[in-house]
Amino acid sequence: MKTIKLYREDVDLRQCDSTLLAAVYDRGEMTELGAKKQENTFLVVLDRTVFFPEGGGQPCDTGFVGDYPVFYVFEKDGVVYHQVSAPSTDIAALMRNAGLDDPETVRRPVHCQIDWNRRFLHMQMHCGEHILSGMFYQEFGGVNRGFHMGDDYMTIDINLEERPEFTEFTQEMIDRAELLANKAVWSNVPVTVLHFDRREDAAAMPLRKALAIEEDITIVCVGSPENPADCVACCGTHPKTAGQVGLIKIIKAEAYKGMTRFTVKAGQTAFADFVLKHRIVSALGAQYSADPTQLMEKIKVQENKNGAVRKELYDLKKTLISRQADVIEQIYSPGGALERGRAGAGSAGTDSIGTSAGSCSSEDSDGSVRILACGRSVPVVTMRYDYFSIDDLQTLGRRTADAVSGLLILVAERENTALLVSGGQPDCGKLVRENAEIYQGKGGGNATLARAIFSRAENLDTYLDLIEKHLR
Ligand SMILES: [Zn+2]
Repeated sequence: MKTIKLYREDVDLRQCDSTLLAAVYDRGEMTELGAKKQENTFLVVLDRTVFFPEGGGQPCDTGFVGDYPVFYVFEKDGVVYHQVSAPSTDIAALMRNAGLDDPETVRRPVHCQIDWNRRFLHMQMHCGEHILSGMFYQEFGGVNRGFHMGDDYMTIDINLEERPEFTEFTQEMIDRAELLANKAVWSNVPVTVLHFDRREDAAAMPLRKALAIEEDITIVCVGSPENPADCVACCGTHPKTAGQVGLIKIIKAEAYKGMTRFTVKAGQTAFADFVLKHRIVSALGAQYSADPTQLMEKIKVQENKNGAVRKELYDLKKTLISRQADVIEQIYSPGGALERGRAGAGSAGTDSIGTSAGSCSSEDSDGSVRILACGRSVPVVTMRYDYFSIDDLQTLGRRTADAVSGLLILVAERENTALLVSGGQPDCGKLVRENAEIYQGKGGGNATLARAIFSRAENLDTYLDLIEKHLR
């Protein structure tokens, strides 16, 4: 027996009293009918219902049948199935105890109520889709080839195929369709739903789209059927007047399979979108001291300034890196600090780099340059920087790699990270892989260039101490 669909007679009906006809709780049977695969649920069949089942691009209603929450509604062969959540984990026992397993006793009155907010939003969106599609068709011959309604937006795929003068949507065309659609809303024309048993009767209407069904046809007309804003076959729910749609806003237009896909908001979702965007624009306006009309210009000016600063910073860093490369190459040059260091502390003393007399290492006063050379087969030069990032040091390391003998260690103090540079001997990657982990470090690289990264400065220092002692 087909279910009587009360929403077809009165779309504003939010509740009704029905008679329970059947309950289906066999998993296999449920799946075959088209229920969602979800544990602890069963299907309810009623003689009449206010619940709109999923269809025509519109999601189903939710709500309550008796005390049971309805989360999915679908139609099969004219019967509307309400899928409800059951409180018990043993559905069979629940059905037995509630007397729902016996076709003789299942018949009982039951009160139904839908989530009206959800339904009304779907009505607003669906009707908004009609009106906008009607305008695309009326103005440019655009045909609606696809429609999807999500929780807070919908997509409409329009194909420009009817009129050769329009091959693609311009912004002006989009703006025009949107404005005309909203004007139809403001004129608050009636939305008429007409049911036809025979195809030829329905086909006499000024339809936007050819009929795809043969019988039991529902035609939805926005405005007078003689001169409608839109007129098309549809099984969904729509408000009784266009004004209830409130607002139609196109959010996005993009190419899609040779068509244009419009992302659209209508009614409550369009309002929520406005609230969100107003909040964002207000915050940006306060940040840039600009009203919405000047905002883009102000942001552009600020971006140009930022770009100039970034360029300046880049140039300064380049200069600094270049100067530091000179300093490092000087250390390794014939007669440089490294060669003098090899000969012993005494002869390294005249350098601009200070020395600790009598020791085999030289170090400048703030510890930013340290040279270990005398008596070692692998000299170690350590340069510490508090203004370079490790990426800057990577550039510096690459530039100076050819000059290095032994091991060069470049430290980015801000990042507790060291870059190891050599001619391949010692193997930098190996020094990181085999030793950094001991001090909770990580990193890696190849034989000539490797990074060791630490979370604490003292761990980095201990690691570097170990490396110095390790290489003799
Ligand atoms: Zn519709």
